[in-house]
Amino acid sequence: MARSVLVTGGNRGIGLAIARELAAAGDAVAVTYRSGEPPEGLFGVRCDVTSTEDVDTAFAKAEAEHGPVEVVVANAGITRDTLLPLMKEEIFTEVLDTNLTGAYRVAKRACRGMLKMRRGRIVLISSVVGLSGSAGQSNYAASKAGLVGFARSLARELGSRGITVNVVAPGFVETDMTAALDAAQQEAILKNVPLGRAASGADIARAVRFLASDDAAYITGAVVPVDGGLGMGH
Ligand code: NDP
Repeated sequence: MARSVLVTGGNRGIGLAIARELAAAGDAVAVTYRSGEPPEGLFGVRCDVTSTEDVDTAFAKAEAEHGPVEVVVANAGITRDTLLPLMKEEIFTEVLDTNLTGAYRVAKRACRGMLKMRRGRIVLISSVVGLSGSAGQSNYAASKAGLVGFARSLARELGSRGITVNVVAPGFVETDMTAALDAAQQEAILKNVPLGRAASGADIARAVRFLASDDAAYITGAVVPVDGGLGMGH
């Protein structure tokens, strides 16, 4: 039987690439979306990860359609960039609430079924910036670094139940998020990528597919960089 998978923020960008990759590999995939229509061919569940109630409802709908969620990918994320002296507290907490507390809400709800099944895969999408830091992104970097400690703690809590918890740390990926950067900013980042190009969503999705697969059964608590070498050394 196809595995039941839930990808947050799976309606566009990296999340959509992950959802398509896993669906193509034979999984029954549900994606969360906040507005508009879910992507063609994927089961959509409306969910804002800043709401515990939304997260619970999204899981309940995915479970009713595909069975208990065996693989969860916490991908939903935002940036609100500005330098610290200009960073209002709401902007700091909004990013933490979405990127880090959102992952907590999703992983906590996912655990329920996984503990019963005694198997599961939790993959959190962090960023190279969580490890290297980035001027103007202290809120975002803090949220993405937080995911590493969170994942590694869960890996220790859940390992004996057959559940792995891993982090993927993408570098520069061509999506709406990076399209918001001006040409000079994009060029400055790409200059530091040894592989000399931006990642596609598919580059990230293939790493997630591997971590979610049986082949990755002995990998937990890992931070897997998929960044063309941008963050080497961290
Ligand atoms: P996009 O901005 O293209 O997409 C963000 C996704 O997250 C959308 O699906 C969006 O849904 C969803 N989302 C945002 N806030 C919420 C929320 N409160 N509740 C539910 N869903 C939400 O980003 P990317 O695809 O580029 O990024 C995906 C992940 O990868 C993020 O966590 C990001 O930090 C990370 N990442 C991206 C990199 C890049 O270079 N692009 C590099 C490293 C990490 P909606 O359509 O409703 O807004």
